[in-house]
Amino acid sequence: MKTNSYNTLHGLLLLLLALFSVAGVAANQVQGVRIWPSPDNTRVVFDLSAAPDHKYFTLDKPDRLVIDLSNIKGGSNLPSVSGESPLIKAIRSSGDANSMRIVLDLAKSTKANVFALSPTPPYGHRLVVDLPDDQPAQNVPPPAIRAARDIVIAIDAGHGGEDPGSIGPSGFYEKNITLPIARQLAQLIDRQPGMKSMMVRTNDYYIHVNRRTEIARGQQADLLVSIHADAFTTPQPRGASVWVLSLRRATTEVGRMLEQTERHSELLGGVAEIIKDSANERYLAQTVLDLSMNHSMVTAYQVAGEVLQELGKVAHLHKKEPQAASLGVLKAPDIPSILVEVGFISNPQEERQLRSAAHQTKLAQSLFSALKRHFEKSPPADSLFAQQRSREHRVSAGESLSLLAQRYNVSIDELRNLNQLTTDSIRVGQTLRIP
Ligand SMILES: [Zn+2]
Repeated sequence: MKTNSYNTLHGLLLLLLALFSVAGVAANQVQGVRIWPSPDNTRVVFDLSAAPDHKYFTLDKPDRLVIDLSNIKGGSNLPSVSGESPLIKAIRSSGDANSMRIVLDLAKSTKANVFALSPTPPYGHRLVVDLPDDQPAQNVPPPAIRAARDIVIAIDAGHGGEDPGSIGPSGFYEKNITLPIARQLAQLIDRQPGMKSMMVRTNDYYIHVNRRTEIARGQQADLLVSIHADAFTTPQPRGASVWVLSLRRATTEVGRMLEQTERHSELLGGVAEIIKDSANERYLAQTVLDLSMNHSMVTAYQVAGEVLQELGKVAHLHKKEPQAASLGVLKAPDIPSILVEVGFISNPQEERQLRSAAHQTKLAQSLFSALKRHFEKSPPADSLFAQQRSREHRVSAGESLSLLAQRYNVSIDELRNLNQLTTDSIRVGQTLRIP
């Protein structure tokens, strides 16, 4: 019983299916033709009302691509074509009630790839033709050398306006030490090709701590350097120190930022655009922020170490290692941030020193040297620093310093100095930096 009724039903289904498919395919029709040119490929899309039944072949002298569509209405009536490509001279069609031949007249031979695509909104069934263009026409300009970007350093002069910061024994304000050091640091940075400064505050006015990190974020700063002077209740403590965001505070901040869904796109940049699924958004935002937090904290810690090394040459150090804290401006888990206490304003000798223009200059110079060295070592991938760093040459047999100087159009002296060479002899396998 079971087998019998199955067979009957099966037969019926097959018959229905056959009828349906004949009716269905016969209803197929080319509804549109779109050409999408790109520098190395031209895509032609035929929009269809049903899945295509197609074959194709190419012909040369002249170059053509021929596509035969079966079970299709329309014959020679191809819809008007939108778009154009230098690779396609014309698209023609011919046929009868049940078939269509489409011929693409090509400007040159190309290895065509023809395939069907099933419906994906907003598109329905499609037949796609990819025509790779390996050798773009000669008149296409060569790819421009991509301009490498500047590394952006946000400089935050602590306090300002009605907030004087700490006040020294002689009555000098912290805000009046931080601003001139910040300004000199900005000048040094702006004189350095590949680096650019942005002052969080440019004069004597107050900005809330939260707003300071927002300003740095708005400028897509690679680093935020906040400049302060320390103070204590007794006059003895002295020396500079450098602070980075503590991990515990960073974790709390990440959590707080994730609560504010409307800030995700701001925090995640382009990544937020692809996180459309709101159920996954928080999870993905967490992951991305965690990654950027990791990067920020590692970077900040490295920079802090470099800064201490340089500061130690011009000032007494209060702490020789970077200190972790949740101080004011150190709250952006997504921007590497350091806070530099340039000395104790509560210490009478240091107050006098911090007020002196000569000492402020030394402090600014040491900060600059540290930042420059850090970004020379670890430049952001798209920066000018990274581009310059990549100019290296590995010496092959038979190469001499003068030959390389000639090849790279630099002087032998420049090569010698940059690579700290004491003689002109170079060895095979040696890596030389090219100015
Ligand atoms: Zn301060």
